[in-house]
Amino acid sequence: MTTYPLMLKPALKSSLWGGTRLIKEFGYSGKDIVAEAWVLSCRADGAAIIQNGALKGTALSDAIALWGNDALGKRAASSPQFPLLIKLIDARDKLSVQVHPDNDYALRVEGEPGKTEMWYVVDCNPGAELIYGFNRDLTKDEFRRHIENGSLLEVCNFVPVKKGDVFFIEAGTLHAIGGGILIAEVQQNSDITYRVYDYDRRDSSGNPRQLHIQKAVDVTNTSTPNHQKTLNTETIDGGTIKTLAQCEYFTCCLLTVNSAITINNLDSFCSLLNLEGECTLETENAKLILKKGSSIFLPAGMGAHITSTAKQPAKILYSYI
Ligand code: ZN
Repeated sequence: MTTYPLMLKPALKSSLWGGTRLIKEFGYSGKDIVAEAWVLSCRADGAAIIQNGALKGTALSDAIALWGNDALGKRAASSPQFPLLIKLIDARDKLSVQVHPDNDYALRVEGEPGKTEMWYVVDCNPGAELIYGFNRDLTKDEFRRHIENGSLLEVCNFVPVKKGDVFFIEAGTLHAIGGGILIAEVQQNSDITYRVYDYDRRDSSGNPRQLHIQKAVDVTNTSTPNHQKTLNTETIDGGTIKTLAQCEYFTCCLLTVNSAITINNLDSFCSLLNLEGECTLETENAKLILKKGSSIFLPAGMGAHITSTAKQPAKILYSYI
């Protein structure tokens, strides 16, 4: 069966800390409050749905089951499950302080892959900040004591953020998204989170959220985080490609399309998420209009030509493995 670029409708998730920006600014519909939009997801608990062509109305995972490994590319095909999960997150209020295990620990203890992730700050309120690791080196015992006596925030590294900032959150890095931040998150396809502090908040039934202290102590890297690597920006015909993160699990770039650019075919599927501006995407067999929030799955081996159609340049998050 012939592959083609898939326009995806994200699965929407509500949470007490979510807001309305993903509805009002990104055009998603179906809920009043949206905390997360899973724009590239093959998960049963939040499937992205195809909106165009012969497979319209079916899940992304159905297309991959039908098309087979050719649509995934060699590396993704060798992964036991679909390797990536990409979300937009609207944190009106702050999220819990948490950590994710690496593959070794997660496969051994949870039977699922671990999670390394990357954040791209799409927008934020003035003064917004997030937690990225510790502000000094701790021992595991000190980490545990700070969790147990309620003084964890004293040793957290609070970082002020601005639009366009990037955070690479290797498995084992303590982190929390702060209030007033809208981020795009690219991550390994895993849902394993160990929560260590939730600001003593209660859920809608009045219960405190469950913490996972022992597992968090097991997996957390308690030294201060490494500084961010300098990111490489390449100027191409019609725009730029800025590398935001590159690791064994994914590569993520920001495409800025001033006029028109071509992305080459890769031996990997690609995810394209339009964050700003408007453009058209043309492949050998399709032409799609991308608005703010549009999410595309481009099958492996398929290149594309992207043309900006608005005054401002289009900004597109471009991810592959
Ligand atoms: Zn996380």
